[in-house]
Order: sequence, then C-alpha cells, then structure tokens
Amino acid sequence: MKALLTGGAGYIGSHTAVALLAEGFEVTIVDNLANSSRVAVNRIESLTGRNTVFHEVSLLDASAITAILCDEVPDVVIHFAGLKSVAESVDHPLDYYRTNVAGTLNLLDAMVASGVRSLVFSSSATVYGEPVRLPIDETSPITDAANPYGRTKLHIERMLQDLGAADPDWNIALLRYFNPVGAHESGEIGEDPNGIPNNLLPYVCQFAVGKQDRLVVFGNDYPTPDGTCLRDYVHVTDLASGHLAALRFLNDEKPGVACFNLGTGKASSVIEVIHAFERASGLALAYDIGPRRSGDVPASYTNPDKARLQLGWTAVKTLDDICQDAWRWQCRNPDGYVA
Ligand code: NAD
Ligand code: UDP
Repeated sequence: MKALLTGGAGYIGSHTAVALLAEGFEVTIVDNLANSSRVAVNRIESLTGRNTVFHEVSLLDASAITAILCDEVPDVVIHFAGLKSVAESVDHPLDYYRTNVAGTLNLLDAMVASGVRSLVFSSSATVYGEPVRLPIDETSPITDAANPYGRTKLHIERMLQDLGAADPDWNIALLRYFNPVGAHESGEIGEDPNGIPNNLLPYVCQFAVGKQDRLVVFGNDYPTPDGTCLRDYVHVTDLASGHLAALRFLNDEKPGVACFNLGTGKASSVIEVIHAFERASGLALAYDIGPRRSGDVPASYTNPDKARLQLGWTAVKTLDDICQDAWRWQCRNPDGYVA
C-alpha cells in the first residue's frame, strides 16, 4: 500500500509517516517546508530504516500537485498540510483560506485527475466551537468556529461531505483531533514550533529550558475543578496509530464520508499539565496566573466511543508519558531541527 502525505514533514505527519513505514507502507511526502524541516524527513528515514519519496512542493502549485498524484497514484492520501495558528489566522485570514481551503481544492482536483478516491483529512475539535455538551461526541452540533482557522476546517469538512454525496466512489475519514502533544519516544522527532509557541506544552518545554522568561496560566476563574481550562491531550504517536486505524476502516468498510473524534476522553487542567511536566522533568516550574486568553473555551474533551467501536482505536498513553516524551525531545533538540 502506498500513502501520500501532504504536510508529512510536519509534527503530526512525521509521526504518522514513521507509523506507516513501520507497518510496511510506501510513503510519499509532499510538503513545502513552510513550517517544517527536511531534517524531519531524514529522521523519519533513519528511525525506520526505510526511504520515503519527498517532494518539496506547495499545494498551491496545482499543476505540480496533479503531476505528482498522476505519477505516484497512491492508494490513499492523508492530508495534513495547512496553516494552523489561530492567532495568525485572525490577522491573515486570506492566507488561511488560500492555503487550507484553496490548497485542499487543488489536492482534490489532483485526486480526481489521478483516480485516487481515498482520503484522510486532519480536522480539529475546533469545529465544535463552544461545545453545547460534554464530553463531545460526533453528534454534537458543529457550530460556527470562533476564528478563521476553525472556519477553514469547517469549510473543508463541508466540501468533502458534498464531494462524498456527489460521488459514492469517494471514501473519506474526517479526523477531528483534540490536543495533539508529546513526541516520538526516541526523542528524534517532535514538535518544532516557529517563534514563540502558542500551545501550552511546547511553551512549557521552552520555559523549562529557559527559552521563555515567564509561564502564565491564562485564567483560573473558569467553572472547572481547579479554575483552569480542561483539554483532552492526546499523544502524537497515539494519533499516528489512529490514522492507521482510519486507513484500515476506509479500506475494509468503504464508508463514504465518516468523521471521528481522536482524543483520550480524559480532561486535564492547565495546572495538572504543569504538575505532570514537573514530575517528568524533575524541575519546579514557577508560574503566574494571568487573565483569560480571548477565545478559549472552558472545557473540551471527547467521548472516544465511536473511534473505539468503529476504528478499534483507543489512545493508550498517559499525560505522564506525554510529558516525559516531550521533555526528552526538548532536551535532545533544544533548537528543534537544526539543518
Ligand atoms: P505542522 O505545521 O507541523 O504541519 C503542517 C505541514 O504542512 C508543515 O510541514 C508545513 O510545512 C506544511 N504546509 C503548510 N502549507 C503548505 C502548502 N501550501 N503546501 C504544502 N505543505 C504545506 O502542523 P501539525 O500540527 O502537524 O498539523 C497537521 C494538521 O493537523 C494541520 O492541518 C492542522 O490544522 C491539523 N490539526 C493540528 C492540531 C495541533 O494542535 N497540532 C490540532 C488539530 C488539527
Ligand atoms: N495556556 C496557558 N498558558 C500558555 C498557553 C496555554 O495557560 O502559555 C492554556 C490555554 O489557555 C488553554 C490550555 O492551556 O486553556 C491549552 O492551550 P493550547 O493553546 O495548547 O490548546 P487549545 O486552547 O487550542 O485547545
């Protein structure tokens, strides 16, 4: 089986590439390296002892994408590529619509041209907006997302649902990730954010090694047990195995368009994450309580039953595993992927 991964040099894509290669898949990566490094592809290959085919190409180059798809004709496309910063999407919405929505359209045109009809798409729990009930399951209402990034995910999901409705040959899995965190247990691949990290765990890692001066908990007056926000932190290697489970499901069940939440079902507070990180690193982290961050929902965690029952997938790694692996990656790669 051959899988083509758009954005396969990125954080989740690189871990999924390792899992696919370990299962015997052939892997082709298409990535313009806008938020990743060629070093990540080298590490994928050295970790697995397998080669990949790598194309440094943007999804916005429609003719190049079509040529690659028609040449490679993969069995399945896993579509990770895109821009993912909520804050940046508010300031630069057109960049987000162009890369995420128009880029996906180019990819789908290329899939049509090459006859490839099997797709796994990286969606996000952000499509649930402010959840109307907890835990969130796949029947929970899809509300208007709070920011342009979230809206691009909604638009793409709807585009894919329309495509599936128009042509029953398509099989598409919409994977709504909760909070992907952690790193490969080898410490060789992990998350390498550009600039100051927006997300909690990469920020905590950089604070712990002195790259950030101050750790601020954004609000402790939420209606949660310790007043800080609750999230469902899922280890990136668990997420990677979720993609393999989705591929098997598409292949065996030919479901048309199906969506799955990928998370643990466990809610952890910001303070609990900080304490887990302290256990993993042996460091004491002095943090301040600051104001709420605009746009944060108090709580977001999944009901993982649909993925467990239909995909046979469950996240197995704990918050302590997550923090240990994130810390190992941070210590071994203090400056991320340095070419
Ligand atoms: P990432 O930035 O590490 O990976 C995305 C990859 O896409 C990068 O390697 C980047 O270089 C590439 N890319 C960007 N624009 C491109 C273009 N025009 N053409 C080709 N490649 C391009 O992000 P990630 O965390 O691995 O996320 C992967 C996917 O999962 C994204 O679609 C993201 O929106 C989604 N997602 C991520 C999270 C998260 O917290 N990490 C949560 C929910 C959903
Ligand atoms: N958070 C925080 N300090 C930081 C970064 C994040 O207190 O420096 C909080 C944030 O307010 C949220 C939680 O950590 O409650 C998870 O944030 P992240 O950005 O990782 O995920 P998201 O909010 O997008 O689910």
